[in-house]
Amino acid sequence: MNFSDFNFEQSLQDGLDAMQFKTPSPIQELAIPIISSQKDLIAVAQTGTGKTAAFLLPVLNRLAQNNIQSTNTLIIVPTRELALQIDQAIQGFAYFTGATSQAIYGGGDGAVFETEKKALTQGVNIIVATPGRLMSHLNMGYVKFDQIEHLILDEADKMLDMGFVDDIAKITTYLPTKRQTLLFSATMPPSIRKLAQKLMVDPEQINIAVSKPAEGVTQGAYLAYDSQKNKLIKAILHEKEYSSVLIFASTKQKVKDLHRDLYRIGLNAKAIHSELEQKEREEVLRSFRNKQTQILVATDILSRGIDIEDIGLVINYDVPNDAEDYIHRIGRTARASSKGVAYTFINDIDQQKFQKIEALIDKEVEKIPLPKYIGEGPIYNPKSPPPKKSFSKSRPPRR
Ligand code: AMP
Repeated sequence: MNFSDFNFEQSLQDGLDAMQFKTPSPIQELAIPIISSQKDLIAVAQTGTGKTAAFLLPVLNRLAQNNIQSTNTLIIVPTRELALQIDQAIQGFAYFTGATSQAIYGGGDGAVFETEKKALTQGVNIIVATPGRLMSHLNMGYVKFDQIEHLILDEADKMLDMGFVDDIAKITTYLPTKRQTLLFSATMPPSIRKLAQKLMVDPEQINIAVSKPAEGVTQGAYLAYDSQKNKLIKAILHEKEYSSVLIFASTKQKVKDLHRDLYRIGLNAKAIHSELEQKEREEVLRSFRNKQTQILVATDILSRGIDIEDIGLVINYDVPNDAEDYIHRIGRTARASSKGVAYTFINDIDQQKFQKIEALIDKEVEKIPLPKYIGEGPIYNPKSPPPKKSFSKSRPPRR
């Protein structure tokens, strides 16, 4: 199948051609016809599947086809980074269609708030917003959402994890009841089903997210005490040259400490965590994206949703608490079918957590011996029997 089979407006097809999008990904093949037919849709899909284009293209096509000028689509997302990224994707796809968009997210100064206010009052076609910031604008009373035809919730599970459920419910009260609602989520816990029941009418459901990392990722694990981890990172980086390296650590403090350590020995590293100002975060991401920075040390802020191309190596400095987060973290590499490497450091107390991950991905990850000069690491001896596989086959929500 080809994108041209969707018979998009020529101006949209021109954008796809310019971006060299030729073959639709599975989620695009499935979702685009459903969305184009104006039905509500629940899509279980991780980042990396091409879900962004899956929801943007049919919306942009409709805008172009009907020459719509009003504020037509609201996309709600959990983080500022994802808001910016989707806004940028819109600008790419809509380059020749003339559709307009604005990202609305927290942080920034008064001038940014004014720009957002202007977009919300004078009308852009697509608003991409984080819930908290959008609520601030809605509370001021000037936002007109009466022409909204599409509501899109992206990374819905993450938004619920972050406690945005009430904000989302509140936001929907500002929207016409007659609208199309699309919900994208990497997982489908009962809380998401409940939300879907509230917001959607007779939704179709598609499920692309198998709880499996992308095919191209080579996974390995090292058993290492915390005191050995920094040496191990240096050893790995010394052994092979990777163009872009993303290191996830579980806490802000660990991110800061590790960054300092890497920086001190002359490595080209930067850190990103919630203490940074929005501007600083964007700056760090930009320099990592355009390869001025080789190594980025991050908290989970980056594990979902953010698309950075060509990351050769992902290191989990510690085992993620949530097995699904492991898949998100290592999903930063091997994007769009390229090859990547993901290493996880397992200390003496994280072993059962790692065993859960192996159960989720239904695969035993190779344990690589530490280089001799780092000394002996802990022995791999998870105490519990392997947990049952926990990936759920999602059913359509009860209607
Ligand atoms: P997403 O899952 O939406 O974050 O997309 C992951 C990456 O794949 C992004 O860099 C997209 O630009 C890229 N991508 C998505 N769909 C396609 C496609 N059909 N052909 C080529 N690249 C794509």
